[in-house]
Amino acid sequence: PTMTQSGPGTPIDLLGLDLSELTRVVESLGEQSFHARQIYHWIYGRRVTAFAQMTNLSRALRERLEGGHTLGLPRVLKIEESSDGTRKYLFAPSSGGQVESVYIPEERRVTFCISPQIGCALDCHFCVTARLGFVRNLTSGEIVSQVLTLLSDNESRTADRPVNIVMMGMGEALHNYDNAVAAFRLLADPHGVGIPRRRITFSTAGLAPGILRLAAEPVRPRLAISLNATDDKTRSRLMPINRKYPLDTLLEACRKYPLAPRERITFEYVLLRGINDGAADPRRLASLVNRHQLRAKVNLIPFNAGSEIDFSEPAPETVRKFRDELLMLGVPASIRANRGRDISAACGQLALQGAAELEATP
Ligand code: SAH
Repeated sequence: PTMTQSGPGTPIDLLGLDLSELTRVVESLGEQSFHARQIYHWIYGRRVTAFAQMTNLSRALRERLEGGHTLGLPRVLKIEESSDGTRKYLFAPSSGGQVESVYIPEERRVTFCISPQIGCALDCHFCVTARLGFVRNLTSGEIVSQVLTLLSDNESRTADRPVNIVMMGMGEALHNYDNAVAAFRLLADPHGVGIPRRRITFSTAGLAPGILRLAAEPVRPRLAISLNATDDKTRSRLMPINRKYPLDTLLEACRKYPLAPRERITFEYVLLRGINDGAADPRRLASLVNRHQLRAKVNLIPFNAGSEIDFSEPAPETVRKFRDELLMLGVPASIRANRGRDISAACGQLALQGAAELEATP
């Protein structure tokens, strides 16, 4: 789906191609199609970064690949490390622009927060990425390569801990549906990158048609919804997309999302002081979950500040009470630790802040 178009002399980027697309490339070189499977395994399974490393290919084929093809790994422009070990990567994807991803080490696992778009078209008022506006969609290769780079750059930690991938960086995966799903397939394929599907999550601000489309895929990621309010009036004020897909429409789409045994939909809920953290909110949230018969859990995210964002964080006591009340009402709930806040790598803080300054000092 995302074969990058190439003029004469422009190398073809193989990163991001699926098996059938690689097969076409191999056949166009006059080679037998089984080599496509070998190349696929080298790129995604073994994660080599040069054709010379594909040692089971003939020298002639390797040279032909080197002639007109690339493995377009993004340049890493900058890595910032938080006092809690979280690292924010600034990438220059092969077809231009800049994008951020976040590596979050935990005791028993590692989480990669990756981006499906540069900027974002939605205008959620509490999020700094929204201030960038929409710049462009990333290709499947540009999405997968964020994962490949984070894996190879953090090998000592990722070797013996499971890796979780959350499509929660910049942008909306469901606004870049084809490329995000193509990337998901390469990541989840046991012959590809091989990250189990249950460890890959797509987060959405609530594009109901996209949720229904994803529900019909034979293999699906886990689903997270940025709910952030318990009534339409508040939600529309915070997230204009709610005017198009209000709570009932959104939650009906969620109910149709097939879940594996014990799997739940995650409702992310950014707590904004005085806006959506009221005494009635946990009850309204629980009744939404019950009314739509959802198997859900709630992940509470205390607001992370950003420049020109005019909200404030609730008191820690309010956050705990909100969680306890949900638990009492029978809704599983947890509080998300705000990792990487000191380097603006926490939820809602990705805004290419390093980028301007980098351009100023080449
Ligand atoms: N567009 C997708 C993914 C990106 S946002 C989505 O909306 O789900 C990832 C998460 O960060 C969302 O749950 C969003 O509600 C949350 N978020 C955005 N801005 C935030 C902020 N300033 N503080 C805390 N969480 C924020």
